[in-house]
Amino acid sequence: MSRSETLFAHAQKHIPGGVNSPVRAFRGVGGTPLFFKHAQGAYVIDEDDKRYVDYVGSWGPMILGHSHPEVLDAVRKQLEHGLSYGAPTALETEMAELVCGLVPSMDMVRMVSSGTEATMSAIRLARGYTGRDTIVKFEGCYHGHSDSLLVKAGSGALTLGVPSSPGVPAAFAKHTLTLPYNDLGAVEKTLAEVGRDIACIIVEPVAGNMNCVPPAPGFLEGLREQCDAHGVVLIFDEVMTGFRVALGGAQAHYGITPDLSTFGKIVGGGMPVGCFGGKRAIMECIAPLGPVYQAGTLSGNPLAMAAGLATLRLIGRPGFHAELSDYTARMLDGLQQRADAAGIPFVTTQAGGMFGLYFSEADEIVTFDDVMASDAERFKRFFHRMLEGGVYLAPSAFEAGFTSIAHGEAELSITLDAAERAFAALARG
Ligand code: PMP
Repeated sequence: MSRSETLFAHAQKHIPGGVNSPVRAFRGVGGTPLFFKHAQGAYVIDEDDKRYVDYVGSWGPMILGHSHPEVLDAVRKQLEHGLSYGAPTALETEMAELVCGLVPSMDMVRMVSSGTEATMSAIRLARGYTGRDTIVKFEGCYHGHSDSLLVKAGSGALTLGVPSSPGVPAAFAKHTLTLPYNDLGAVEKTLAEVGRDIACIIVEPVAGNMNCVPPAPGFLEGLREQCDAHGVVLIFDEVMTGFRVALGGAQAHYGITPDLSTFGKIVGGGMPVGCFGGKRAIMECIAPLGPVYQAGTLSGNPLAMAAGLATLRLIGRPGFHAELSDYTARMLDGLQQRADAAGIPFVTTQAGGMFGLYFSEADEIVTFDDVMASDAERFKRFFHRMLEGGVYLAPSAFEAGFTSIAHGEAELSITLDAAERAFAALARG
């Protein structure tokens, strides 16, 4: 038995499913999850001392690679001064100034401790600001696990929400309308009918929680126009895309200005951090300035601010995102060539330093249905072959992949060599 197998068996005695977040359990790919004990640069090292090129990066935060010395130093320096005060610090103001400087749509920002808190709070704020209850989200988009957002659509466009998780009261879920991603017509129709009841549209500007689906041309522009026409707050959930697709997030990359934005992952540099912010007139509705309540014992935690600030400063250097995107494109080209050579139908998507891999006959991936039509069984076999070859992909066919600036030539060749063998094995059947 490997140490990961032993540890997983033990973990399941007191942790539901042996994990503290479900996708870690490898249910999407089968087998035993790897237990990691160390991470450095582009690599994670498991409990059996095997090293993998990491394309998960803690699900996005580790854009600099793991254990970047300047980030660790910033945390160590803060460590000498205490872990948490529950009172304001200069670090928080530095962070707010930096975030608002990098993302021009943000006049003000509030720090929280996770992406879930950021989106949950932004939704409450949009409801409080507009005095409307209904929200619109898109099928296949994930915005954390708060009740309003754990709702997915039936196949109809304008249907009342149905809870996708037991425990979310139907009376609550009915305030969430779910529409098909990249379908502007569905948005126009819905807003024409019930626009005056809608507080906000929340969208992942690049969908990263149904594998990786970039916005169709005109989709984000159309959302902006529709929100303006109906007095609806447009929320970009940039928890995944923020500081990754471009330094200023997907909103900078696609040139669309949302009213509110949510961030997580990179903004904490690997520590538990999220934030939400946007237009001053909306943000001033938050307590203590306004009546919409939101709070957090550990919000703006000094260690977390130190890690996040160091990370954001390092990724601000000129050329960082071009380099990240270039590695990602070269890696995806290399995969495509090897899949083609092996005769395996394969499609990739990319937005800067995030990407999607599909075993699919489609020419391109645009909709949730395109994603669902891809061959998840084939992905499972590919995933395990890649693991054998020393490459750690997200353990699900429905998650985006992430690169870091620590990924270079050596990692490219490990990845492509492993892929060549993996595609060949798939071709043998
Ligand atoms: N929004 C998006 C777009 C996400 O990808 C995630 C998490 N992957 C969340 C919100 C929730 O963030 P957290 O897991 O930090 O609560």
